[in-house]
Amino acid sequence: MTEGRIEKVSGPLVVATGLAGAQMYEVVRVGEEALFGEIIEIRAGRYSIQVYEDTSGLQPGAPVHTTGQPLSVELGPGLITSIYDGVQRPLEALRERHGNFVARGAHVPALDRKRRWRFVPRVKDGQQVEPGDVLGEVRETEAFVHRILVPPGVSGRAVGFVEAEKTVETPVGAIETAAGKVEVRMMQVWPVRMPRPFVQRLPPIAPLVTGQRVIDMFFPLAKGGTACVPGPFGSGKTVVQHQLAKWADVDVVVYVGCGERGNEMTDVLLEMPRLKDPRTGRPLIERTTLVANTSNMPVAAREASVFTGITIAEYFRDMGYDVALMADSTSRWAEAMREISGRLEEMPGEEGYPAYLASRIASFYERAGRVRCLGSDKREGTLSIIGAVSPPGGDLSDPVVQATLRVVKVFWGLDDALAAQRHFPAINWLTSYSLYLDVTEQVAAATVDRGWPACRKEAMALLQREAELEELVRLVGVDALPASDRLVMLGAKMVREDFLHQNAFDPVDTFTSHKKQFLMLRNIVQFYQATRQAFEAGAEVEQISRLPVLERIARAKFVPEDRLEEFDDILREARTQLNGLRVTGGEPLENAEEEVGGTQPQKAEAP
Ligand code: ADP
Repeated sequence: MTEGRIEKVSGPLVVATGLAGAQMYEVVRVGEEALFGEIIEIRAGRYSIQVYEDTSGLQPGAPVHTTGQPLSVELGPGLITSIYDGVQRPLEALRERHGNFVARGAHVPALDRKRRWRFVPRVKDGQQVEPGDVLGEVRETEAFVHRILVPPGVSGRAVGFVEAEKTVETPVGAIETAAGKVEVRMMQVWPVRMPRPFVQRLPPIAPLVTGQRVIDMFFPLAKGGTACVPGPFGSGKTVVQHQLAKWADVDVVVYVGCGERGNEMTDVLLEMPRLKDPRTGRPLIERTTLVANTSNMPVAAREASVFTGITIAEYFRDMGYDVALMADSTSRWAEAMREISGRLEEMPGEEGYPAYLASRIASFYERAGRVRCLGSDKREGTLSIIGAVSPPGGDLSDPVVQATLRVVKVFWGLDDALAAQRHFPAINWLTSYSLYLDVTEQVAAATVDRGWPACRKEAMALLQREAELEELVRLVGVDALPASDRLVMLGAKMVREDFLHQNAFDPVDTFTSHKKQFLMLRNIVQFYQATRQAFEAGAEVEQISRLPVLERIARAKFVPEDRLEEFDDILREARTQLNGLRVTGGEPLENAEEEVGGTQPQKAEAP
C-alpha cells in the first residue's frame, strides 16, 4: 500500500502525488476519512482521482492510500432484492448503521457477511468441471434460484461440495486444479469496467415479450437486444419502465436509477417492492436488483453506477438467465462524465461532453447480447438493455441521444403531444423503429399466426396514410376529404385507439399476449378491408362508422386471455353488419358465415 498526498481538490475530483506504481482504475482511499475514490488519469506523476463521496473539507496535504484493487462488485446470493448506491454499498445496511445520511468513508460490504444460504450441490464428488459449470444452487427468493458457478479461469476436479448452510465467505467446496486446490465460495468479486467472459456472442433470435402492444407488434425488442427510450417529463417514461420491469419475460431485472431526482427514485424504490410479479404472484423485488444514485448523491458515483449495474446483470446472464437492465437516465450519466471531464480539463467535444462520450456509451450497450455462456452444458443467457434518455427540451439532436441511436437497435420515441392527448403509451409510431423486426416477426409468424407480418404491415400503412392526410385535414377539415380517404381515417383511428392505446392501470389491458395482440389487430385490419368492399359496393362511410360492432371492436382489449374465441365472433358480427347495410344496386357482399378462424387475414397479403 502506497501513501501519497492530495495536491488539489476540485469538487469530486482530487489530484494526488506520490502514488508511484498505482494503476489506472485502481481504488484509493482519500483523506483521513478514507473516502472511496478511483484513479481515472495518470499524467506525469499526478494522479487524478474521482471520489465517490462528498469531498467537502478535504485539504491539500491529506493522505491518499492505494488499495491495489480495481473498482469491483461483489457477486453472490444477496444481490436479489438489494438496493445499492452507485458503488454497490447497500443503502439499507448503511442506513441501519449510519442513519439517514450516508456517513463518509462508511464501509459496508455489498453482500451480507452473516447471512447463511442453503447451498445445494449440482456436481458429484470428483466430477471434472470447467469455468462456468454449475456447482450448486441457492434458492435466493421464492422467485429466483441463484446458480453458483466455477469462477472464470479455474478447472479441475470438484471435491467436497455438500448441501449446507453457509455464508458467502465460507468455502462450499474446492476444485483440485493442476496448480493446486482452489476453494470455492458463493461470492465472487469482479472489476466493473471489464465485461465478464462468455464463449461466443450469438445473434438475438427470440422476441422479448412485454405484453405492450405498441412494442411487441410494432417496435419489438429481442432478448439480448438494446433499446432506448427518450422521455420528456410527463410523457410516461416511468410507466413504460414499470410495465417492462413487470411484464417483460425475463428472469431478472436490474434497475439502475441514475441521477434522477430523489423523489422520483423514491417512487421506484417504494413501488418496486409492492408491485406484484404477475407470473409468480410474488413481489417483483424478488427477482430484481436496484442500483440507485440520485441527483443529490456524489456525481462520480453516478458514472460508476451504470457499470456496477451492468456487471451485476452480466453475472446473472452467465447463470443462463434472461436478464433485462434498465438505466434511467443515461443523460444524467453522461452529464456526470461531462462534469468530471471538465475538471480534468480535457478538450471538450460537442456541448462540452468529453470526446469519448460516444465510445463510452457504446461500451455500455455493447455489453448487451445473447451469448453462449461459459460452462460445459453450453447454456445460453441473454442481457437486454433499455436505456432512458432525457434530452433537454426533448431535443433529439442532443449528443447523448445521437450517440445512443448509433448503437441501439430499437428506438421508442415518447411524444409530448401524444401524452397531452392522453394517448398512452405515448410511443410515436411514425418516428420509432426496431431493427429486430425480421427476427421477431419470423417467430411470431411461426408461433402465433402466419398472417402476423402482413397484418402489422397493413396497420402501419394505415397509420402512415393517416399522417399524410392529416395535413389536408388541418386545412380543409375531415368532411372535405374524399369518402375513400375518410375510410382510411376511420381505419387508422381504430388502429390507434382500439389497438395502440393501452391502459397500464387496467387489470386486463395492462398485459396482452402475442396471440391476443394478433387477434385484435387482425380484426381491425380485416374489418377495414371489408369496409372497403362495402364502400365499393355503395355503402356510405357515415353508415359504416355508425355500425354497432365498432363498439365491440373497441372493447376487445378487455376480453380476458382465456376467452380469445370471442375474437372470431366479433369478426363474424362485423361481416354480418356490413352485409346488412342495404346497398342499392350494389353487389351482394361476401358470405357472412365465412370461416374467420385464427389463421391468415384474407387480404392482408396484398398491402
Ligand atoms: P414521466 O416519468 O415521463 O415523467 P410518467 O411515467 O410518470 O411520466 O407518466 C405520467 C402520467 O401519464 C402517469 O401518472 C399516468 O397518469 C399517465 N400514463 C403514462 N403511461 C400510461 C399508460 N400506459 N396508461 C395509462 N396512463 C399512463
